[in-house]
Amino acid sequence: MSTATAGGVWEQLVGQGPVVTQLRRAVDDGDMTHAWLFTGPPGSGRSNAALAFAAALQCPTGGCGRCDSCHQVEVGSHADVRVTRTDKLSIGVDEVRELVRISALAPVGERWQVMVVEDADRLTDQAANGLLKAIEEPTERTVWLLCAPTAEDVLPTIRSRTRPVVLSTPSTREVADFLVRRDAVPPEAASYAARASQGHIGRARALARDEDTRRRRVEVVAIPARLMSLGACLGAASDLHDVAKEEAAAQTSAHDTREKTELDRAYGVVERGRRPREYAPALRAMEASQKTRAKRRVLDVVDRSLMDLVSVYRDVLTLQLGTGTELVNAEIRPDLDAIARLSTPEQTLRRIDAVFEAREQMLEFNVPPLLALESLMVALRLRD
Ligand SMILES: [Zn+2]
Repeated sequence: MSTATAGGVWEQLVGQGPVVTQLRRAVDDGDMTHAWLFTGPPGSGRSNAALAFAAALQCPTGGCGRCDSCHQVEVGSHADVRVTRTDKLSIGVDEVRELVRISALAPVGERWQVMVVEDADRLTDQAANGLLKAIEEPTERTVWLLCAPTAEDVLPTIRSRTRPVVLSTPSTREVADFLVRRDAVPPEAASYAARASQGHIGRARALARDEDTRRRRVEVVAIPARLMSLGACLGAASDLHDVAKEEAAAQTSAHDTREKTELDRAYGVVERGRRPREYAPALRAMEASQKTRAKRRVLDVVDRSLMDLVSVYRDVLTLQLGTGTELVNAEIRPDLDAIARLSTPEQTLRRIDAVFEAREQMLEFNVPPLLALESLMVALRLRD
């Protein structure tokens, strides 16, 4: 589908022509169902697609992107679109019960009651079963939009009752064009950001627009070539960890401050200058959840840095095998050549494996990030 015909709320679904066609058919021709499952790799825009669909379902003209209704969905203030997203590792049964209760209500407006669950893969089994009932016996005007990385991430019983919407990774070209068109990014910067993000739209936009994000990525991809001694390996691990903490803090601090202000206001701490008895436990609970969130963000950032490292070794392998595939990190060509010269393709493959192993250690087995990074860097060490 050409971009000329897919304007309005669909414009941001970069490189997702078939999905746009599918969702427009539901909106324009009434080919509807009560539960949908949006899946796709990180950054392909699962929740963006779900929100665009929600907006199109509420819009009098099927998703113009300009009316009040479209705008309200975009900023999260639409009365009939409820979005559940979580910083926690799981969504529990209490939260789902509340959603199910709301989903049974008639919409405020005359269209749909849209329930978006961004991380349906994080529903506990009990929560998923609670949701199942609502999906099995849908209210006339209610639509559930669930998002997960893959269909296998949700219970089979839920999967079988939802209509799949499968997003794919957009091409470098599609991402670059989008950045030029939508954000007026200069073509060369857009092409760099698209390549470096490997099809992750949010990441591409951050790289194109934010100097600090670019600088941090440059630091990460410079790591492999400097791993020549044990000292260098340990230094690189601690640098990478620092970069991750810095980026995570940049993402969370504004949010944390706002939350604290809201809490203080809710308990009247600001106005009266003294603290009601209930304030201390509420503050403790808030601080605990902020800590969990900060930890998660660090993990997310480290995880992304690891994928940046993988992109370096993929480039090295491309050079070693002479396949001629476009390099993700063309700007560090001298580094790539040096690593390619100092190792064999088998070693490069083993290094890629080592990165995925470190990732698993961190994400599945809760090994502290710095520790996982230290053993990883030692495994990535080059010898001349
Ligand atoms: Zn509209």
